[in-house]
Amino acid sequence: MNDVIILGAGPAGMTAAVYCARKQLSVKMLTTDVGGQTLWSGGVENYLGFDYIKGSDLVDKFEEHLKKFAVDMVYKTAVSIADGQDGWAVEDVDGRKHQAHTVIIATGKSPRQLGVTGEDTFRGRGITYCATCDAPLFAAADVAVVGGGNSGAEAALQLADIAAKVYLIEAGPELTADEILENKVYDHKNVEVLTDTAVTGIDGTELVESIDVNVNGRPRRLAVTGVFVEIGLTPNSDIVKGLVKLNATGEIVVDRSGRTSRPGIFAAGDVTDEPDKQIIIAAGDGARAALTAYDYLLYLV
Ligand SMILES: Cc1cc2nc3c(=O)[nH]c(=O)nc-3n(C[C@H](O)[C@H](O)[C@H](O)COP(=O)(O)OP(=O)(O)OC[C@H]3O[C@@H](n4cnc5c(N)ncnc54)[C@H](O)[C@@H]3O)c2cc1C
Repeated sequence: MNDVIILGAGPAGMTAAVYCARKQLSVKMLTTDVGGQTLWSGGVENYLGFDYIKGSDLVDKFEEHLKKFAVDMVYKTAVSIADGQDGWAVEDVDGRKHQAHTVIIATGKSPRQLGVTGEDTFRGRGITYCATCDAPLFAAADVAVVGGGNSGAEAALQLADIAAKVYLIEAGPELTADEILENKVYDHKNVEVLTDTAVTGIDGTELVESIDVNVNGRPRRLAVTGVFVEIGLTPNSDIVKGLVKLNATGEIVVDRSGRTSRPGIFAAGDVTDEPDKQIIIAAGDGARAALTAYDYLLYLV
């Protein structure tokens, strides 16, 4: 039985692990990957101590720091949490159970899916959810970006310098990106903005070859080899649905100390209803949840 199990090795989870380990708690961490969303960031300019650092390099620094502490790493996705004897039982994707007195949920967010035919088939075969990671793979290609908010506009601008032609697809009547980004988008001759446009399917053989859309109700097929989905992020909170209180968007409701509605379960970072999703905020949340879990354990035993 561990003192604490931390779910997720993004900035929130890794900071929580360092704080727990420094408090001499026995810590196990279950995670799908190491780094989380920070891996997707091309360059970070707002994490104190680094005026500019690649997201993947910042993750390396975090991991290097984490490795100095006794944290039992399990590179597995957690699939359920149940009220166990004397604490909580976390089940991983292989069906193995892990027990602890407390759990810190730091599972962050994942890109929202389009939910159209072809998406499952061509994920990673032309469909991507991270322009920063994958734009360079589409040099001189024709591509589509789905989503006319800030992320979509930023993706379209990145791709405009790399790809031959970029379709920027927005479901509503106009782009919702900030004006400064929107103006830049319209300044690029190789970006075609399609508003009032719904994606209906993605097609190809081995790889993506086209995307089907409905422009103002009229069907159109765009020949593209890349589809960048930029329609927002969704909290990875399914694992605690029904166990702790979630808000309307599925974020875990926490108090100022990182407590959820269930004693012994804490949460930190982007998966929570804390406003402003940033690396430094997630890291701070992780530290606070760890200290709150430590206090909870002091009174438990
Ligand atoms: C493209 C992009 C660029 C960004 N640029 C910046 C920037 O420049 N500056 C900035 O401050 N912020 C930036 N952000 C935001 C920042 O990355 C996030 O706010 C931050 O990473 C949140 O950290 P987190 O630890 O809460 O979650 P995440 O980083 O999402 O990490 C969650 C972790 O949980 C793991 N996980 C998920 N589900 C499970 C499960 N069931 N079981 C086990 N593990 C699980 C994941 O594998 C991951 O390791 C950017 C975000 C994006 C998408």
